[in-house]
Amino acid sequence: MRDGLAKSWKRESLDHWRKVGQYYPSGIGSCLRKQFYDFVSPKPPTPEELALFATGKGIHETVAEALRKSGLVKVDQVEMPVTLNLSSEVSLSGRVDIILAEMSGKRVIVEVKSSSRLPDQPHENHTMQLQTYLHALNLELGLLLYWDKRTGQLASFRVERDASWLKRIGERTFMLDAHLRVKKAPFREAFFTGKYWECDYCPYLAECDPFAVQGVTRGSKLALVGISAQGGEASPNPVYQPDINSIKRLVYGLKAEGDVVILLADFLPGLEPKIVENLKSSGVPYDAFLSKPMELDSVRLWKVELGRRLSTNYQIASFLDSDEAVLDMAAKFARRVQKLAPS
Ligand code: SF4
Repeated sequence: MRDGLAKSWKRESLDHWRKVGQYYPSGIGSCLRKQFYDFVSPKPPTPEELALFATGKGIHETVAEALRKSGLVKVDQVEMPVTLNLSSEVSLSGRVDIILAEMSGKRVIVEVKSSSRLPDQPHENHTMQLQTYLHALNLELGLLLYWDKRTGQLASFRVERDASWLKRIGERTFMLDAHLRVKKAPFREAFFTGKYWECDYCPYLAECDPFAVQGVTRGSKLALVGISAQGGEASPNPVYQPDINSIKRLVYGLKAEGDVVILLADFLPGLEPKIVENLKSSGVPYDAFLSKPMELDSVRLWKVELGRRLSTNYQIASFLDSDEAVLDMAAKFARRVQKLAPS
């Protein structure tokens, strides 16, 4: 069965995939580096991907049939191929799940996502996919319909065509295209934007290795030290927590124990060059500096989620932070945790 599914998957893939210049709307919102690998060193689909592929069509038909039967809307088409041309050489091609002939007097696209948990907000990559279709077909309204197949619960979100999305879609697609044409992998987007879960499920995790710290040998003993700096881009003197002399003493002590010291830094955008300059001029002998992605709101979760993933490549000998809750969670993967007193 798996062989047969793999053959069907391959046939579909060859129809509209792996051609530089022609991309997939369902992928364009996900990590650009992952999409690059999909082109240059594609992996066969995982059993989960094959199952999703095989059940996807059935779900679209089932939902379309349910909508027809409701008598409230008229289904026009299911799995309709569409292309959004961004230039003479670059386009996005995919299949719209369902088109309603009329709902409130309009033609409407329905994009169906089966999910194990209904989201509170539509996922960004799903909105990007739907916006691509709305622009390709010049329609105003789409619906993202999430269906939890275990519980039968549904959630739907209205998505209106928006030119700002078209701009983002274009920028991302051209960026991917440019990297593919020069055969240079884009930056580790999911990692740098804190979408670590995307890396967890990425088939290229081993090649990309986002949770390896540059220049630090795998298996090394790490000390992770949480620091923060207050002050905006224009601030000449950020205020550090702990203060910079305490950071220096701590780092010296940890290095004397043979640890590689990684600073986990939380600060406002634009401050990184100033912080690095301050740390260097103060003689803080740290080994690496990882900063919280702007896209993440929770500093606490960031430190724990990153630390946990670093522990798959390194021994986390110590985790030092001023937040008890961080230390409680870090105790699951760090040998020793230490509370830093406020300065
Ligand atoms: S491992 Fe993460 S950063 Fe790397 S390609 Fe995959 S999703 Fe992107």
